[in-house]
Amino acid sequence: MVGFFYALECTHANLFYLCAMQQKDDILKEVISHAKEYGFVFPSSEIYDGLSATYDYGQLGSLLKNNIKEYWWKAMVQVHDNIVGIDAAIFMHPTTWKASGHVDAFNDPLIDNKDSKKRYRADVLIEEHIEKIRQKIEKEVAKGIKRFGDDFDEAQFRATNPNVLRNAKKIEEIEGRMKESLGNDDLEGVYNLIVDLEIACPISGSKNWTEVRQFNLMFSTELGSVAGDAAKIYLRPETAQGIFVNYLNVQKTGRMKIPFGIAQIGKAFRNEIVARQFIFRMREFEQMEMQFFVRPGEEMKWYDYWKEHRMQWHQKLGLGEANYRFHDHIKLAHYANAAADIEFNFPMGFKELEGIHSRTDFDLKQHEEYSGKKLQYFDPELNENYVPYVVETSIGLDRMFLAVLSTAYTHETLEDGSTRSVLSLPPALAPYKVAVMPLTKKDGLPEKAKEVLNKLQYDFSCQYDEKDSPGKRYRRQDAIGTPYCIMIDHQTMEDNTVTIRDRDTMEQERITIAELNAIIDQKVNMKYLLMD
Ligand code: ATP
Repeated sequence: MVGFFYALECTHANLFYLCAMQQKDDILKEVISHAKEYGFVFPSSEIYDGLSATYDYGQLGSLLKNNIKEYWWKAMVQVHDNIVGIDAAIFMHPTTWKASGHVDAFNDPLIDNKDSKKRYRADVLIEEHIEKIRQKIEKEVAKGIKRFGDDFDEAQFRATNPNVLRNAKKIEEIEGRMKESLGNDDLEGVYNLIVDLEIACPISGSKNWTEVRQFNLMFSTELGSVAGDAAKIYLRPETAQGIFVNYLNVQKTGRMKIPFGIAQIGKAFRNEIVARQFIFRMREFEQMEMQFFVRPGEEMKWYDYWKEHRMQWHQKLGLGEANYRFHDHIKLAHYANAAADIEFNFPMGFKELEGIHSRTDFDLKQHEEYSGKKLQYFDPELNENYVPYVVETSIGLDRMFLAVLSTAYTHETLEDGSTRSVLSLPPALAPYKVAVMPLTKKDGLPEKAKEVLNKLQYDFSCQYDEKDSPGKRYRRQDAIGTPYCIMIDHQTMEDNTVTIRDRDTMEQERITIAELNAIIDQKVNMKYLLMD
């Protein structure tokens, strides 16, 4: 890979960090350009030079995105008989956002660098500083592993090594100050922390900062033709509230018994201070959320359950266990009594992919208060009414798309010295499962290939390709992640057999047309992923 060779050239230890960052930037750039070249993701309204941080999913991207949605929906709704799905409107009564706390508290602390004129999220600047200290610890541990080999006791090393302990203490102090300042809305405290840590602007390198200010992330617009505050409504910043306001409708009409969940996939909008890193942080994005309603007092049990369960869902995809980690929140949102992120090793490093939040009874209680309607549950076993507690799982569909795409993307050098770009997507998520190809455009092979296509396309999403040499066609399918290519050749005309080529191993096998559907199904059907 391009980045790998770049790293090899960097021998000096101090250069290593810079090289690693450069390598990650290069990989992200390669993924972005591959995504555009093959019709996965385009800059939005590109003919007008695009709109910042807004993207459109192309013909292959929309297929991949739909498959990710299906994997989530089936795992959450279809195989849980106590979880149902809804599709609520993006526009909601404006009081919803007063009740949820978004009007008053859905803010990010922003800070500007006076020299570069760049705007940052103050908490993100501090978290990035913490991450650098964390990397120093990991480097120290890596040195230990190298020095002591098999005798290395990592836990003991972390508990006793003076450098590790000093840095761990630093992190603890910074996190403590950040938590206190953010928790008390003490923006001056956040500013002082940035100054004390001598954090510099990554662009200008200067420490010439403005004060820290709060910025509300909700987009607003006006309903109908009336202007002014009375008609002001918001584009939903999360899909969760659509679930909360429908809690009673669903519970009563679905005769749901606690514990039960309501799931939803849909668009959300946030006027992010800094929207960047491709589809990682956008102002219009899609969420897949599930609110699980439980008995008060049982929320921590379910919180642990969903943390574990969601991690398993991710790991079944086979993107590599080491690419995931939990991050417990230091600063809890106003509604939560516990929260953790599942972080993924994106090309830019470990970042939040999914949040699991124990939201208490905050949302339902607030909606009770603001609407004047009771949002309670009569528990027949306890013979009492209560407002249920809620455990939420919330994953960004676009971030999941980036996780899958960036991990699947590889640029390989083959034994014969040629290269190929391949998307090793989990077969169940691949946009096309099969490509059907006649070896040549004559001797009745295209007609036979169309027959085979017809036999397959009611079970799988397929492509037909007869243009260019077989080698070129295989490369094209590798680049879009098609797990299997079926070649119809002259032997097919004699004995009704075809070759099936595996994207990852590039090996070919001869099988009969009669067994094709069953063999492919075994390899690409999502049900096997869900059942495992
Ligand atoms: P972050 O800290 O990265 O801003 P968050 O903690 O505000 O994220 P949540 O409110 O927990 O995010 O939203 C749930 C999920 O929605 C996130 O885990 C993420 O995958 C996704 N998400 C949030 N904001 C964006 C965005 N601007 N663009 C794309 N996905 C997003």
